[in-house]
Amino acid sequence: MARYEVIIVGGGPAGLAAGLYTSRAGLKSLLLERGILGGQIVNATLVENYPGFPGGISGSELGSLMHQQAVRYGLEVVTAEVIGLTPGQPYSISTTEGNLEAAAIVIAAGSEYRKLGLVGEEKLSGHGVSYCATCDGFLFRGKKVAVVGGGDTAITDALELSQHAKKVYVIHRRDQLRAGQTLQQRAFAQPKLEFIWSTVVDEVMGEKMLKGLRLCNVKTGQHSILEVAGVFVAIGLMPNSQRFSDILELNDAGYIVTDETMATSVPGIFAAGDIRRNSVRQIAAAVGDGATAAMSAFKYLQEIR
Ligand code: NAP
Repeated sequence: MARYEVIIVGGGPAGLAAGLYTSRAGLKSLLLERGILGGQIVNATLVENYPGFPGGISGSELGSLMHQQAVRYGLEVVTAEVIGLTPGQPYSISTTEGNLEAAAIVIAAGSEYRKLGLVGEEKLSGHGVSYCATCDGFLFRGKKVAVVGGGDTAITDALELSQHAKKVYVIHRRDQLRAGQTLQQRAFAQPKLEFIWSTVVDEVMGEKMLKGLRLCNVKTGQHSILEVAGVFVAIGLMPNSQRFSDILELNDAGYIVTDETMATSVPGIFAAGDIRRNSVRQIAAAVGDGATAAMSAFKYLQEIR
């Protein structure tokens, strides 16, 4: 069974930064990524708030540079999904590519968009159904779109979409927004926004492209059809922590509880980036978490040797 000093789970900015630091510290390190290296940032057309790039940089290019930099110092990268983790020293990790052992683990598996869970949603994803207004908003110039959700993300997305779209419907399941007051004030002052209260989407309509949404008013039970070219689902994120829920302490929302050294409730397992409690979900912060987790893993390995 292949054995490493550190195994990093997840190849977004937090995982790649952790891999850079553990490799440069001379630790035999492996990073496991189930999908595309770079994580969620690969969807960002332009990243303008990552220090060092005054003109901005595309998310996919930034992810690729982070990857190149980490492997240059010896980080091994394998495409595989983690199936399970068994505590012990060393830890056993079962993956879709076989079993591995590691003396320390950094979990940087991020989070993913919460889905509505409707028939047609997955089929029309990328064909009118989107989870990222910043990535896809410009595709709907002059068209009618809808945003589902009532939190900060939904309202930020709706305001952003009002720059492109002819009309933006905000469909919220209650009659009060969860978003902060300032965002609410801006939203209510934006004439292109129309709020559809106490309503849920119960069907995403269309064969090849989104044609519209079937809505249900939760107070009256009445159904209606809303014709839109795009729908942006902004109902929160889900941390990819299910695989670790039986061994690590998670908070009520499913995020991994860490201290400021990125240590989890289990010695030798660290968590970094969006998957941890109180992450501010920024690339710069994820990179900082990754570096901290790597240095904590290094210290832990020195202590147990
Ligand atoms: P959120 O605060 O959890 O809001 C999710 C929204 O989606 C809520 O309005 C919720 O309705 C609704 N919702 C959840 N599940 C649903 C379902 N199955 N069907 C229909 N609606 C559903 O998530 P978020 O807006 O992504 O924000 C996450 C965190 O990031 C927050 O802490 C937020 O403050 C922060 N954030 C901040 C900013 C900013 O400051 N500009 C921008 C984005 C995000 P209910 O209200 O009824 O629960």
